[in-house]
Amino acid sequence: MPNAKASVLERFETALTLREFPLPAKIEHGAALVRTEMAGICGTDVHLWKGQLPISLPVILGHETVGRIEQTGEGLERDWTGQPLKTGDRVTWTSSTSCGQCYYCAEKGQPTRCPQRRAYGIGYRCDQPPHLLGGYAEFHYLRPRTNIFKIAYDLPSEAVIGAGCALITAVHGVERICAESLGVTPDREKDKMPALPFPWRDIVIVQGAGPVGIAALAVAKSAGAGQVIVIGGPKHRLEMARRFGAHHTIDIDELREPSARIDAVRQLTRGYGADVVIECVGLPAAVTEGMEMCRDGGKFLVLGHYCDAGTVTFNPHVVTRKQLQIFGSWSSEPRHLKAALEFLRATQKQFPFGAMVTHRFPLERAHEALMATAHWQSAKSVIVPGL
Ligand SMILES: [Zn+2]
Ligand SMILES: [Zn+2]
Repeated sequence: MPNAKASVLERFETALTLREFPLPAKIEHGAALVRTEMAGICGTDVHLWKGQLPISLPVILGHETVGRIEQTGEGLERDWTGQPLKTGDRVTWTSSTSCGQCYYCAEKGQPTRCPQRRAYGIGYRCDQPPHLLGGYAEFHYLRPRTNIFKIAYDLPSEAVIGAGCALITAVHGVERICAESLGVTPDREKDKMPALPFPWRDIVIVQGAGPVGIAALAVAKSAGAGQVIVIGGPKHRLEMARRFGAHHTIDIDELREPSARIDAVRQLTRGYGADVVIECVGLPAAVTEGMEMCRDGGKFLVLGHYCDAGTVTFNPHVVTRKQLQIFGSWSSEPRHLKAALEFLRATQKQFPFGAMVTHRFPLERAHEALMATAHWQSAKSVIVPGL
């Protein structure tokens, strides 16, 4: 049986190791084997490497992946949208699959909270067959029931990976905020916005200029935000935010105190604060700061806390007095990936997600790719096996 190379996290906070695993002898019914074309490094991978999330090692990291179908199992004939699938097709997929039958899946319509979900590149040990269940490898096995999406010929892999799981996360998050106005879309045709019908002309603040912040900026703008203010750093990230159309940026290295940033927001919003604040930072202190930046009656989305970064004290009177609506959003559903791919294709000129890919590494240098992300050297690092 031929082998496939993979870069493996064997011990937390030590260099990834190049290993070889046998390719599966047989592809199960409904499964597929994919040849990895490009794998993104997500900020979550850095947290996983540090041991900040409860995972069992060894693991092949990588949950943002594009590849070409090498082989399909019986019964796998179409992608999630119904398009025919064949060998050689370029595809991506959701990192986890919900069971469809539990309390959250079947009864409450919130499959992202399904307890059966395990994510590729996070929740599968690689010392057990079929081994190849993460992106940092030459091949990726897609288990039966994986939500696979064929990528349109005119959508580059760089754009899909540059947007990565951040865009899908932002699509879901913005949907959470706007759920009440879903379907009320007077401008939808004019704006040519696929699958994101949010008719706001509001002032939106995005806290954080990392991949999730940039994605939230793009989604908010496309959803009709009248003005988007991005707060973050370092400078190269704020430049990217301006490239993506941020109307204003606030540099946290220049305005170092929360009170100074809150004042700056007030000045930009006629003293009222923003209609919507989207937290994409992941630091607890950003949450209390963000609530102060909301106007009275505004909405606040906590999107950046994928890791437990600890607690923060705040005065609940703020929530009551300001009549705030506070939202959370976890991961995404297949329909959000579908929307994200359509969004990327339709807005390639406006939002250069492909340009986010600033650092490319061969599989053998996967650890350098991970460290480039850890040290914020790159907008987005990717692994290209065989580079
Ligand atoms: Zn991720
Ligand atoms: Zn379920």
